[in-house]
Amino acid sequence: MREFEFIEWIRRQGEFDPEVVAVGPGDDCAVLNVGGEKLLLTTDQVLDGVHFSLVEHGPEAAGRKSAVRALSDIAAMAGVPVAMVATVAAPKGFSQADAEAIYLGLRVCGDEFACPLVGGDLAAWGESPGPLQISVTILGKCDGIEPVLRSGAQVGDAICVTGKLGGAWATRRHLEFSPRIADARTLARRFAVSAMIDISDGLAGDLGHVVDASSVAAELDTITIPIHDDAAGRKDPLEAALFDGEDYELLFTLPETEADELIENQPLEAKITRIGGIVAGSGMTLLRDGKREKLEPRGWEHET
Ligand SMILES: [Mg+2]
Repeated sequence: MREFEFIEWIRRQGEFDPEVVAVGPGDDCAVLNVGGEKLLLTTDQVLDGVHFSLVEHGPEAAGRKSAVRALSDIAAMAGVPVAMVATVAAPKGFSQADAEAIYLGLRVCGDEFACPLVGGDLAAWGESPGPLQISVTILGKCDGIEPVLRSGAQVGDAICVTGKLGGAWATRRHLEFSPRIADARTLARRFAVSAMIDISDGLAGDLGHVVDASSVAAELDTITIPIHDDAAGRKDPLEAALFDGEDYELLFTLPETEADELIENQPLEAKITRIGGIVAGSGMTLLRDGKREKLEPRGWEHET
């Protein structure tokens, strides 16, 4: 089963009331019209053995990761988090101390981003044993900045990315990243950002989501792709930057002239790199050593 095929199937099951649902499934957050205001809503889950290892990383890091992943989706819309709720499915033998550690992981992260944990549910696996699962739902607001969708990329836009990519699984970076909430708002406030997503599935997978949602194509120049030191030891560091995922950097598009100014000004602490451009058509192309090759929107296949 592929996640996006499933989302397409859900979309075909019925229309939403556009008065209430401005943006439905398939973006980083849903956008809802509530009481004359646009609210953001997102949910995310982490599973032991898939997104973290309970034995290796411990329950507090798992709790924190579940919260920052959802916060990163709020960042991808240039929103401001308001509050979160969480659910936990505890494995057999889970102790009060383990549950407290998860709470603290969520709580400390919530405090850092002014996003209090205001409710939740804890259940334990019974006879059939299951792994630790943590799900976090976050409500966000727009606070004067129109939500930036995946669907707004225009032909002629530049494609830019914050920070460096690849190898997040080789270190604890996939657990310890900081969601780029303030950075996303700086970008959206000062520049005509047309589309944005946070890189969770990998550069290729997430750019694939943007071009599909925007009905455009993308060309990436391999020389410009910023590769993280964490990927330097890999057989193919560029592959790592394209496909590893879990970088939680911002991938965004904006008009070329704005990109020139952005790259020159560098308004964030993290370096912003222009990695390619949006063209007419569909799919993605990689320019490597003067040759063009098709880039598959292959998703996240991390090494556990
Ligand atoms: Mg996302």
